[in-house]
Amino acid sequence: MKGQFLGGGNEVGRLGFVLDASIHKFLFDYGINPTKPPQFPAFAPKVDAVFLTHSHLDHVGMVPWLAKSSPTNVYGTPPTLAVTPILLYDTVKISTIESTSLPYERIDVDNIIEAFTPIEYGDVVEFKDVTISVHNTGHLPGSGMYLIQNDKKVLFTGDIQSIDTHLLTGIKSIDTDVLIVESTYAGKEHPPRKDVEENFINSIKEVNERGGVAVVPAFATGRAQELLMVLENTDFEIWMDGMSRSVSNVLLNHPKYIKNFPRYKKMLKRIRQIRNNYDREKAMEGNVIITTSGMLDGGPVLNYISQLNDPKHGLFLTGYQVEDTNGRMLLETGNIDLAGVITKVKMDVRFFDFSAHSGHRELLNFIEGCRPSTVILMHGEKREELAKEITGAKVLLPKNGEIFEF
Ligand SMILES: [Zn+2]
Repeated sequence: MKGQFLGGGNEVGRLGFVLDASIHKFLFDYGINPTKPPQFPAFAPKVDAVFLTHSHLDHVGMVPWLAKSSPTNVYGTPPTLAVTPILLYDTVKISTIESTSLPYERIDVDNIIEAFTPIEYGDVVEFKDVTISVHNTGHLPGSGMYLIQNDKKVLFTGDIQSIDTHLLTGIKSIDTDVLIVESTYAGKEHPPRKDVEENFINSIKEVNERGGVAVVPAFATGRAQELLMVLENTDFEIWMDGMSRSVSNVLLNHPKYIKNFPRYKKMLKRIRQIRNNYDREKAMEGNVIITTSGMLDGGPVLNYISQLNDPKHGLFLTGYQVEDTNGRMLLETGNIDLAGVITKVKMDVRFFDFSAHSGHRELLNFIEGCRPSTVILMHGEKREELAKEITGAKVLLPKNGEIFEF
């Protein structure tokens, strides 16, 4: 078999992987970096089917382009295919507002949704000489890795999380010959999750005690829902705004893909959902506001920052801040770009590592458990740090565009 990364090989983001399995060609993920302006992967060749691992823009944001070039089935789990359109329509909307170029339009999003073909965990899709099945990766509700089988087994993971969180069960290794695995956290470990959660709750209390509100930017899919569950045993007045609210509601239709669904449902009923500006005013008198966007590149969070830019209020980042985003600029310089004006953020800015990715040691354990003879590391900036610790398997570190055999 042959492979090629259109993006996301030697970098985190805009992933696209073409698998050439003799008779058929498949595309796994096709994402963009939602930076300003967005960054795109290389254009994809014509393929026989597309498989999506999960509903994050760096894995699905380029898929509408395929409606014009490669009209074919796009497979994913029901939650992935239910949430993806929300992100895609929003991407078109943002590019119109900000007049950035995007290689597709709204009509292409409409068309690609027509090609969406849901498959559940464990389902097998059959092609002439290959079968492909999907399995949990613990990263997001419905996130999946694909096992491709002919005379060889190839496992393509997308993003993975090893630990059990409040929302999801962690990934389990599967026996394979070739393992294509993400390496976002190569060379880095996460602090114990329990400590992060305690610190998060205490920090909200601290801000509230001095009369402030904690504004918590969170990625719409996965992070926002996990944070809700982290706050389950508190008596905070919790508000939710933006796309995190719409995605949380869509996930109510997919109970199988959430670990403690009755508790999730109860929690979503208990919080206050922000539907208009009146709610927004009220929310600023509450304890905590969970809102998009997670990297401060748009969404209601910018409105909260401009209205609450005072040291008594908290601004709590909860995820990785990609280069060229407002969030990264905030961490590095203390400023953000508010509607074109560089603004000093005076709020109490803190960072909490609620990552949905396996850390270095967890990645190694997962790889070992799959017992592969070849490991291909992708979606990482420090892949060498992981590569040097993998024993008993050949390790490939392909660059974007390079065609490699395995
Ligand atoms: Zn992801």
